[in-house]
Amino acid sequence: MRILVIEDEHKIANSIKKGLEQELYAVDIAYTGDDGYDFASTEEYDLIILDRLLPGLDGIDICKKLREKQIHTPIILLTAKGQVHDRVEGLNSGADDYLVKPFAFEELLARIKALTRRPKGNIGSVLAVSDLSLNTLTYEVKRGKIKINLSRKELSLLEYVMRHPNQIITKDQIINHVWNYEADILPNTVEVYIGYLRSKIDKPFKSSKPLIKTVRGFGYRISEKK
Ligand code: CA
Repeated sequence: MRILVIEDEHKIANSIKKGLEQELYAVDIAYTGDDGYDFASTEEYDLIILDRLLPGLDGIDICKKLREKQIHTPIILLTAKGQVHDRVEGLNSGADDYLVKPFAFEELLARIKALTRRPKGNIGSVLAVSDLSLNTLTYEVKRGKIKINLSRKELSLLEYVMRHPNQIITKDQIINHVWNYEADILPNTVEVYIGYLRSKIDKPFKSSKPLIKTVRGFGYRISEKK
């Protein structure tokens, strides 16, 4: 999943990015409110971490503008002040959650996980399609009872497709949600990674149905059904 961090304090922004990348997220940073708004309104993100106090457009302005534009990406607002009216203003402007600085990275992570929780039909933090399961907290992947080891990128890709079961996902969607802005990814790279995933989650399990389907001319679908 891909996250945008809008924060003018470079040290904080960079440490959030580093921490989130270790957790398999693709992360972009905007250091000003104006850049942040541009990124948030033109790129596809699964979540936005937004500082309240920014030069130029501030966090509240950005929240309001995005919601007016019908962009409903979940937003966590970072606020330096713990005052009640500040939090209320943040939530009223369209933010989904807020976190008072300074905060522990673990808490930020827990809130991200809560806001990007499971799609319909999945229980708790485990995504499942047929006998394939992915625990989004521990990143343990299993087919039936057999554990499967995946690289970080393979895990990010699998998580993204498993969050959209039975739907056609285009290569562009995959590029936009699994890699960040700086990564110059070609559609061909997606094919290569899908191939890696198939060789680990489908091919070794001869008695189970293959789950990753190619939808010619469109993209891919993860599904039990044909
Ligand atoms: Ca700030």
